[in-house]
Amino acid sequence: MKELRIPLERRRAAGLYRARRIAEGPQGPERIIDGRRLISFCSNDYLGLANHPNVVAAFKKAADKYGVGSGAAHLINGHTRVHHVLEEELAAFTGRARALLFSTGYMANLGVISALVSRGDSVLEDRLNHASLIDAGLLSGARLMRYPHRDIPNLSRRLATREQGEKLIVTDGVFSMDGDIAPLAELGKVAMQHDAWLMVDDAHGLGVLGASGRGSLEHCGIDISRVSILMGTLGKAFGTFGAFVAGSEELIETLIQAARTYIYTTAPPPAIAEATRTALRIAQRDSWRRERLCELVNRFRTGAAALDLPLVKSETPIQPLLIGDAARATIIGDALLEQGILVTAIRPPTVPKGTARLRITLSATHTDAQVDNLLDALATVRLQRLGVNDATR
Ligand SMILES: *Cc1c(COP(=O)(O)O)cnc(C)c1O
Repeated sequence: MKELRIPLERRRAAGLYRARRIAEGPQGPERIIDGRRLISFCSNDYLGLANHPNVVAAFKKAADKYGVGSGAAHLINGHTRVHHVLEEELAAFTGRARALLFSTGYMANLGVISALVSRGDSVLEDRLNHASLIDAGLLSGARLMRYPHRDIPNLSRRLATREQGEKLIVTDGVFSMDGDIAPLAELGKVAMQHDAWLMVDDAHGLGVLGASGRGSLEHCGIDISRVSILMGTLGKAFGTFGAFVAGSEELIETLIQAARTYIYTTAPPPAIAEATRTALRIAQRDSWRRERLCELVNRFRTGAAALDLPLVKSETPIQPLLIGDAARATIIGDALLEQGILVTAIRPPTVPKGTARLRITLSATHTDAQVDNLLDALATVRLQRLGVNDATR
């Protein structure tokens, strides 16, 4: 077997080594991690539904009725009534004709893009798109072009060079490591001008943005018909697990025929689908959770600005602090841990080189005092002294 030790050591020396921490108990602002009680600012459970009593109760009840495993792929006999009803509810929620459940968001992205384009076609992606979208573009066999972040003129020029084949523009709705929102209205216009499809991965927008939680499309007020393919995940704001794609009748039927990550995999447990139905109802009903998130975002940004911390332009619950150097980001993360605060350092290749960051995320269930604790800890750690790189702002 090839020598694996040397690249591992190199990785460690570069501050790029990845290791898991062991968590106890349910997801929430306070967690026991590696045996210590910490305040956590790194989950994607934005609305605080992962441990909501009604969601948990729905899961248990469905487990009694359906058992645990689905036992087979959707196209064999794993597609239960509860999966089907959830798909109808997700279609209604997103204002689309149909929705299709996938086991994970990663698989949804691989499945959709590979089913829609292939050799001779073009996929145009924002450079900061989620890794699953980039992988999907590569796997599809189409020509993958990555345009600079939010750069519509650049995208437009690239589209103009592609005369042959299908064109698919793909963007995160909310950029997962930056928290900023894609210029959807402009993307919709460019897609129409160039007769391209527009796909939005709204993993971090759905449930969080828009008055009724319909995500970055609702936030931007874009006519939803401009976005032919909407992908959403269920493991973030909805607090459960899995993902879905929503769109036209023809899109969904195409995916059922051709998306390999849909066809060749076991359907998610029915109890997950039932828990998601409850989470979806709560997410729509409890607009106070979205309002609370806005309050917490404001509180954090005001406090961080007063400390002169390297905030980025983000109005979402994703509030990164740009550090720059990967090793330094790790050191700061460890120093925060000493203060009882869990924030993960995000390093290359998850983010571009030289843009390592602390990815702080807020949840509606955080208290004001917890956000103040975070700010106090950041002040103590003195980010400035650790040499925050101004050039990356
Ligand atoms: C988390 C995420 C995914 C992957 O979803 P999973 O269900 O976790 O596999 C895809 N796209 C974006 C933008 C994400 O943040």
